[in-house]
Amino acid sequence: MGPGFAATGLFCNNGSHQSPIDIDSCIRSNIPPLRTTGHSRIRPEGFTIMNTGSTAQINYRGNEPTMSGGPLPRGSTYVLVQAHFHWGESDAKGSEHAVHGKYGAMEAHFVHRKRSYPDLETLIYSILQLNYQEQERNNTKLDPIVTKLAEIRAAKTLARIDADALFWLNDALSPFRYYNYPGSLTTGDCNEVVNWIVMKKRVGISATQIAEFRKLIGKDGMAITEYRREVQDLNNRKIKCPRVFPMV
Ligand SMILES: [Zn+2]
Repeated sequence: MGPGFAATGLFCNNGSHQSPIDIDSCIRSNIPPLRTTGHSRIRPEGFTIMNTGSTAQINYRGNEPTMSGGPLPRGSTYVLVQAHFHWGESDAKGSEHAVHGKYGAMEAHFVHRKRSYPDLETLIYSILQLNYQEQERNNTKLDPIVTKLAEIRAAKTLARIDADALFWLNDALSPFRYYNYPGSLTTGDCNEVVNWIVMKKRVGISATQIAEFRKLIGKDGMAITEYRREVQDLNNRKIKCPRVFPMV
């Protein structure tokens, strides 16, 4: 399964605002704090995690977390639709986005959709991106997800995950420490509809934990050893990052 597996659609070869990218510099800008509500909270209703045949996807039902502020249009609210993971054949290159040419061990995408939007508006999605960094010890905070992967090895299977399965997000989400740029989906048709928010802080994960993702079986009956797209040309796009305000 080569890099072309994830992205072969309409805009993937012809677009000019494609993702992922290698982030080499950013323009410091005055941006209000990014507000995330409910992403890491206890969900008494729990969540489900599904093997879609390409990745492991967390689905939300009812009372979805929301995102607003930051680089998002003033007054707009984005609702979390699903979260999923990307990984590679090598732990040294498992993320899609790179920073100064350095890749993470994995990447997670929290896909939000704008609650309401005029017909002509283009950036109707905002993806909150998290990069992982390999560490020797298991990150036990990820276990509520990682230990469930054995139950969804077969494509199109589903399992429930516990109410506290996303507590680890608390360690990575920041209202100011991220990069922001306009880009595309990295799968499917690569539509250029995404306001990307790429968190700077990386989440620890062990090689053993990453290996559990590679055991998932894809639509073709083979293990999903890789689910990632290579970096794309920046093409004059500007990458912004908030000025970091002093702690008070
Ligand atoms: Zn993705």
